[in-house]
Amino acid sequence: MTAPLVELRDVTRSFPGSPEVQALKAVSLEIAAGEYVSIVGPSGSGKSTMLNILGLLDTPTVGEYRLAGARTGDLTDDERAAVRAQFIGFVFQSFHLMPRRTVLDNVLMPMTYSGVPRDEREDRAVRALDAVGLGHRASFFPGTLSGGERQRVAVARAVVSGPRLLLADEPTGSLDQRTSGEIMELFESLHAGGLTLVVITHDVGVADRAARTVRITDGRLSEAA
Ligand code: ADP
Ligand code: MG
Repeated sequence: MTAPLVELRDVTRSFPGSPEVQALKAVSLEIAAGEYVSIVGPSGSGKSTMLNILGLLDTPTVGEYRLAGARTGDLTDDERAAVRAQFIGFVFQSFHLMPRRTVLDNVLMPMTYSGVPRDEREDRAVRALDAVGLGHRASFFPGTLSGGERQRVAVARAVVSGPRLLLADEPTGSLDQRTSGEIMELFESLHAGGLTLVVITHDVGVADRAARTVRITDGRLSEAA
């Protein structure tokens, strides 16, 4: 039997202070390769904390995170960064594009770190932009694009290195309903192509599009029926 792609075992994340905040409380979760999972909960429930841990941007205070069967707690900072660059793509609510770089440069950027051979990068970036319908915007700057277009650039950037896991934190939070639908369709086609997808949202309509929904309430998970 192959290990789950993602496995959290009794993960607690505490933030010091008075009082201390436990943003995640003994969370356990398994996600198989190829799954499309949404994590839904209200503001402050621990969603971003969860995404940061899944994305190796943060570490559990207690408990264990295994990625593709490997314990991530044993990795050095450099190793974590390398695993992140090669295996994980991120999409954020506010796009996080570099404003002074062209759309093409934004999509090229992660390949500097992910080990894609230099002479393949431009081809891959162009193909990733074509796949999100923005090949004709390659030389534009992000500020000249609509919100939906910016998010599609962010999706192209997130998948250009061929990650195994795509993590999205409120990916439709800055978009209107129609544009949100387009982003969700894009996710669905990526999932159909085999990508493992975790979408974190407070929007039940967005969460319901995933094959599996996990609820988070006050740092605790429960599987939806
Ligand atoms: P969500 O993304 O669901 O809105 P977060 O994961 O951002 O929730 O936050 C969960 C809880 O953890 C909140 O009570 C928040 O205030 C707290 N929290 C998050 N990050 C920090 C931090 N760096 N320091 C202290 N408290 C934090
Ligand atoms: Mg959040």
